[in-house]
Amino acid sequence: MHKEKEKIIIVGAGIGGLVSSLLLSDQGLEVIVIDKNKEVGGKLRSIHSEDGPIDGGPTVLTLINIFVEIFSQAKLDIFNELDLFKDPYLARHWWPDGTKLDLFCDHNSNLENIESVFGSQSASDFNIFHKDSEKLFNSFDKSLLKNRFPTSFFTKPSFLKNIHNIIRILGKPSTFSKKLDRYFEEPKLKQLFGRYATYVGASPFNSPSILQLIWFAEFSGVWRIKGGLHRLALCIKNIAEDRGVKFLLEEEAEKILADGKRIKGIALKSGKKLNSNFLIFNGDPRGIAKGNLGNDVSQILSRASVEPRSLSAYVWSFAAKPKGKKLVHHNVFFNQDYSDEFKKIASGKISEDPTLYVCAQEQSIKNNKNQRYEIIINAPPLSLNKISDKEEHHLCKEITFQKLKKMGLTFHPKPTANNLSTPANFETLCPGGDGSLYGLNPQRMMSTFRRPTTKTKIKGLYLTGGGVHPGPGLPMAALSGKHAAEMIKKDLALT
Ligand SMILES: Cc1cc2nc3c(=O)[nH]c(=O)nc-3n(C[C@H](O)[C@H](O)[C@H](O)COP(=O)(O)OP(=O)(O)OC[C@H]3O[C@@H](n4cnc5c(N)ncnc54)[C@H](O)[C@@H]3O)c2cc1C
Repeated sequence: MHKEKEKIIIVGAGIGGLVSSLLLSDQGLEVIVIDKNKEVGGKLRSIHSEDGPIDGGPTVLTLINIFVEIFSQAKLDIFNELDLFKDPYLARHWWPDGTKLDLFCDHNSNLENIESVFGSQSASDFNIFHKDSEKLFNSFDKSLLKNRFPTSFFTKPSFLKNIHNIIRILGKPSTFSKKLDRYFEEPKLKQLFGRYATYVGASPFNSPSILQLIWFAEFSGVWRIKGGLHRLALCIKNIAEDRGVKFLLEEEAEKILADGKRIKGIALKSGKKLNSNFLIFNGDPRGIAKGNLGNDVSQILSRASVEPRSLSAYVWSFAAKPKGKKLVHHNVFFNQDYSDEFKKIASGKISEDPTLYVCAQEQSIKNNKNQRYEIIINAPPLSLNKISDKEEHHLCKEITFQKLKKMGLTFHPKPTANNLSTPANFETLCPGGDGSLYGLNPQRMMSTFRRPTTKTKIKGLYLTGGGVHPGPGLPMAALSGKHAAEMIKKDLALT
């Protein structure tokens, strides 16, 4: 008798869901990906413009080996599938007093640059910080980040081997900013390295010192994709589709159906129902905990696994002609008082003098054409946000373009309200997350162990994405997609 193919439903075509779909394609399974948006990618999105697609989400692609491994598991070479290249510059940093510092993916160049801008003491402070960050990164990379079960990390050899180093480096529990006070005399370097906390949606003044390992992830290489990072999502979708995965776009899952112990399928807002014994949810797990996906699953996640929320952002994506400053791909315009920026955010506002991240998608002006930019301002998530819809465009415009003008950079024409994405827009794009971009706020030392894990209490229901272990950011969310695919294969005894 002909046996029916096992059906796997994936709700969400963010990077986590896409990676799962790729790794489950060609396994003799029927894989269906559902996403409420018109395009795949979720936050990994691009905005249409007359001057070509503009990145409107992530721009910094790190830890490329995670993607190399995922593609190779799918019997692909990522370098054949995408026009990928490593940027020698990590970022160009500017301060209001005119100080400028470039950082590279080469330690000696960084030492030289820091010495020439801030002096030899700062270079030697940086050297210690860098070496410690490397040790921390290497201790936690395999044992925790790449481990499907976070709580078993302390039994892993790579952790145990380095335990002395970890204890020495982490020392007494302290905030990231206090830790940076111990490494650096130079306030601008404290500010620069503290900013890495925002990569996981945290404030350096209210997050654990372990976040210093993010520096080493960045140092290990920042990659670019010709055409923008959104190409990564399109590439995975196209390959998965060629291998038989079905994509149902502009369809929203309204309810996850389960009978208490076992997953049964989903009910869509359009009225359709799909039965299945295996479901990967790639939406924000807070949506499940809030009951947005129905009562059958609302009890499986604790509030502490999804709250408090990480940062949101106001994001400009536009094309214009620049004047004034020579930019590289990643540029940061710092402020005078970094701690005030996060105090404002905690009070539901944005700073009048925020740190601005400016991504210049291309650096050479061809035929006097407009160039494409993404500018990001840190902001509170929706439930904290006290900026009214009416004032946000005006406020962001005044703040962003006046600040850049003061620091020597202007754009013509100036972007309009249509070029601004707000925390509310991010909630519409990826529902349930409170407009926050990185899931649970990693403000506590043990936050890593609070995030939901891929496997849930309900048989056949798996979670992926930035809100799930090992955490936010493209490589981590992709890893969770890999974990979910591997668990399903194991549960189906395919491996
Ligand atoms: C402005 C910005 C800048 C960033 N910068 C970086 C960066 O430089 N580097 C980096 O690594 N990371 C960055 N990030 C974070 C990174 O983008 C995310 O961590 C990652 O993309 C999250 O992927 P995900 O798998 O969680 O899916 P998401 O991107 O959250 O997508 C989830 C998808 O699920 C769909 N969905 C949810 N619920 C339903 C439902 N009920 N029915 C149907 N569909 C549903 C949503 O529509 C969405 O398409 C940035 C994010 C933003 C927004």
